[in-house]
Amino acid sequence: MVLAQLGGSISRALQQMSNATIIDEKVLNECLNEISRALLQADVQFKMVRDMQTNIKKIVNLDDLAAGHNKRKIIQQAIFNELCKMLDPGKPSFTPKKGKTSIVMFVGLQGSGKTTTCTKYAYYHQKKGWKPALVCADTFRAGAFDQLKQNATKAKIPFYGSYMESDPVKIAAEGVERFKKENCDLIIVDTSGRHKQEAALFEEMRQVSEATKPDLVIFVMDSSIGQAAFDQAQAFKQSVAVGAVIVTKMDGHAKGGGALSAVAATKSPVIFIGTGEHMDEFEVFDVKPFVSRLLGMGDWSGFMDKIHEVVPMDQQPELLQKLTEGNFTLRIMYEQFQNILKMGPIGQVFSMIPGFSAELMPKGREKESQARIKRFMTIMDSMTNEELDSSNPKLLNESRILRIARGSGRPVREVEEMLEEYKRLAKVWSKMKGLKIPKKDAEANW
Ligand code: GDP
Repeated sequence: MVLAQLGGSISRALQQMSNATIIDEKVLNECLNEISRALLQADVQFKMVRDMQTNIKKIVNLDDLAAGHNKRKIIQQAIFNELCKMLDPGKPSFTPKKGKTSIVMFVGLQGSGKTTTCTKYAYYHQKKGWKPALVCADTFRAGAFDQLKQNATKAKIPFYGSYMESDPVKIAAEGVERFKKENCDLIIVDTSGRHKQEAALFEEMRQVSEATKPDLVIFVMDSSIGQAAFDQAQAFKQSVAVGAVIVTKMDGHAKGGGALSAVAATKSPVIFIGTGEHMDEFEVFDVKPFVSRLLGMGDWSGFMDKIHEVVPMDQQPELLQKLTEGNFTLRIMYEQFQNILKMGPIGQVFSMIPGFSAELMPKGREKESQARIKRFMTIMDSMTNEELDSSNPKLLNESRILRIARGSGRPVREVEEMLEEYKRLAKVWSKMKGLKIPKKDAEANW
């Protein structure tokens, strides 16, 4: 994920600052310059970057900070807050409620990922117990109906469309009527896109909107346009009642950060981001966890969301208890690895775990990462219960390591590598001690 590059640069700058013995004006300036460079490279507007820098300097007055104050923490917090402010898009105009029929209309330019996103949105909600349905009112692009049909069939989501009818307004109205009768609680209408914002596109959108009376209009946009997202979002907002935005292709473009901040600047609430072509490469966009992940601090809520999805209900309380106890044993690591292997797109999951950075598990190298985890698990299979349940790293002395290596048929170097990984994770886990993790699914209501 290209955003990982931005995140990597920012967290490296913070780390460098943390390594300095004394934090003075020079060190702070270097850190801020480094972060600004990374943001500009991600196509964040120059003015926003400059404002961020000025604000941080205003908040962090090194001279005023009395000795004994944790300057580092204050600076990190200020950077976190400023980035959150820069990306805060506000709240959507409407949030569908499970069990109550809501009509959601998707709009956007052709190629923005609208049709793909409609299915991802439906699939996301279906997994959370909703009864979604898809209506293809895109009669402009040849093949749009086939694409929607194919995706919907794969996800077992009911769909409606026509090869014969060319009037999008008629199709949209019929589809919505039908799914209302079938008691679907989330009726998603995909509309046509055009290559550019033109009158015909906006007129058609207005007509479909009038015929279907959507509760929410979602504007889908491609992140690769970077800060030009500002103008596009403004144009759509002025023509239709855009209530929420989904930014797609955040996986492949260096300009993702710029697009997100530009959309936020138009006060259009981003609710999800698309992070790949697959159905489940789709994430709730929540600014604080997002920035926290960007800074390499993990996205605890996103990770928990995944845990709730894949860990069987009866095992969840036990896992949550173990996490909050902060007593990290090799057995817990083993169980985590099992969960991670079940969780699907592994790069996406890894980047959410506090302590893991997306850079460590880069996209495109999922197979390698998975193989590594499996090797670690093979090694752990040769460990005794005492070793697995101990949180004392000293227990694993040289002779035990040799025995484990022989037993698992893996080189000693690899056993040591696994133990290094364990130590690193244990350090991260210890920070979770006493953490209040939501017991119930922190489900997004849109
Ligand atoms: P539409 O014309 O707006 O309906 O766009 P489509 O849904 O047909 O998407 C256009 C292309 O973008 C397709 O090849 C999709 O697979 C791809 N796409 C959509 N969303 C994402 C995303 O989040 N990441 C990536 N990498 N590709 C995406």
